Amino acid sequence: MSFDYDVIIIGSGPAGFSCAMQSTKFDKKVLIVEADDNHLGGTWLNKGTVPSKALREAADLIQDFHTQFGDEKGRKPFERFRMEDLLSYKKSALDSKNRKVKTDLIKNEVETARGWGEIVDEHTVTVKDSLNKTTTYTTENILIATGSRPEEPKNFNIDHSSVLDYNSILNITHIPRRLVIVGSGVISFEYATIFASLGTRITILNDSDEFLPFLDHEIRDDVFKVLKKKGIIIHTLSKVKEVKPNPLRTCMEVVFRSELEDRLQVLESDHILYVGGKIPNTDNLFDSTLNIDLNDEGYINTDHHYRTAVKNIYAAGDVTGDPTSASASFVQGRLAACSMFDIPSESPTGDIPYGIYSIPEISGIGLTEEQAHDMGIDVTVGRAYYKNLTYADINHRTDGMLKLVFKTDDLKLLGVHIFGDHATDLIHLGQSIMAQDGTIKYFIEHVLNYPTYSEAYRVAAFNGVNRVYKAGVKYKNILNNKS
Ligand SMILES: Cc1cc2nc3c(=O)[nH]c(=O)nc-3n(C[C@H](O)[C@H](O)[C@H](O)COP(=O)(O)OP(=O)(O)OC[C@H]3O[C@@H](n4cnc5c(N)ncnc54)[C@H](O)[C@@H]3O)c2cc1C
Repeated sequence: MSFDYDVIIIGSGPAGFSCAMQSTKFDKKVLIVEADDNHLGGTWLNKGTVPSKALREAADLIQDFHTQFGDEKGRKPFERFRMEDLLSYKKSALDSKNRKVKTDLIKNEVETARGWGEIVDEHTVTVKDSLNKTTTYTTENILIATGSRPEEPKNFNIDHSSVLDYNSILNITHIPRRLVIVGSGVISFEYATIFASLGTRITILNDSDEFLPFLDHEIRDDVFKVLKKKGIIIHTLSKVKEVKPNPLRTCMEVVFRSELEDRLQVLESDHILYVGGKIPNTDNLFDSTLNIDLNDEGYINTDHHYRTAVKNIYAAGDVTGDPTSASASFVQGRLAACSMFDIPSESPTGDIPYGIYSIPEISGIGLTEEQAHDMGIDVTVGRAYYKNLTYADINHRTDGMLKLVFKTDDLKLLGVHIFGDHATDLIHLGQSIMAQDGTIKYFIEHVLNYPTYSEAYRVAAFNGVNRVYKAGVKYKNILNNKS
């Protein structure tokens, strides 16, 4: 049986894009269906990863400029810089990236169709465009890469003007003096530090008593110190009861109850940013007679080849649930293409790093010190503080630390945890050593460029080795790998 396409991909985010690029390298005929009339690239390019990082970069530059070159009048950054400048910085980054994605698809002969894609049977997809015209295509394989969208709050509404979600904050027209962030995940933390760097007074309302619970405890302590320095206030165990305008004081009011104090409190703010969970985009996507299996939260279940319960229909990216990240989606889309065209491929092995693009950044891979202890592994840690690194001194970015967790007996590296400038990049040196079952001796025995942030690995390795030495092991034996 012949079809119009070898694969039709619904959604042009990182999962869809990488599946398309990999499939065309296998000489397959590919169609990407995208509901957004104006842009390809999904949340990755237009609402999430890239725009938030472009805003972050602009805020970071402003903060740098403001701290390095001060202001004799003592003005805050929001009195010296305009949101318009940040938005145009973001726009130029997005325009450039959007052009590149479009060019890559055209160069690789990937066809695109704009409109709402719906799978009507195993081999047929319809696309309804903005003029309500429906076109039908047939295909051998289908990839669902429709991503996710922000969840709505339960007891107030997002009006995208005073009360924002992670999409509408990207178009805010001025730097707010006060911002209340409801939610305590990675995105809320990123936006908290971005706006705090611009001088905005930030309050985070967190309905649980945990904040980034997966962080190493010392990294978390360091993060809290920096949050305090930035004036960011966090209310834990606090539930929002109501959000309403106060016309007399021309502001918004957030009424919340803190379990710790057991009383209603009111916060005044210019804007509220709600960052709750995500919802998979599966509405009106496939005919109910198709046996595509969803989990309790509505995410699509797949096997480890990203195949759904229907043999030729695959799903990748946010629509399949955790880890919902662009980095994972790129890999999943590519592997789905390999699987559908029977090309041998390896799933990524080893630990996966996480990256939080706050100011400063946080990143980690492998075991934390607590996890290693819980598992009964005898570990020692080595620390390097940014304030002791020449490069951090030169950059005036001295907040943060890098921590190595390694086995005491053979110095094998088990985890790296970093809080500080360029942490999300820096983590990959530790990742490479861990992937090769390496030891912290690598950082002592190899020459690393100087001055760099990578020097932190050398400093932390020496710090760790010294700790093993203090515990009674001869230095010579440590470096000869004898305990
Ligand atoms: C504020 C924010 C910051 C983030 N920062 C990072 C980061 O720093 N690093 C990182 O790795 N990840 C980050 N992420 C997560 C990342 O953006 C997502 O995990 C990633 O974009 C998911 O990719 P995807 O391909 O699954 O879907 P998406 O990128 O969401 O793309 C899905 C596409 O499918 C289209 N679509 C949906 N339904 C249909 C339909 N029926 N027909 C046609 N088209 C349809 C949508 O219009 C959309 O374009 C961030 C997310 C947010 C919100």
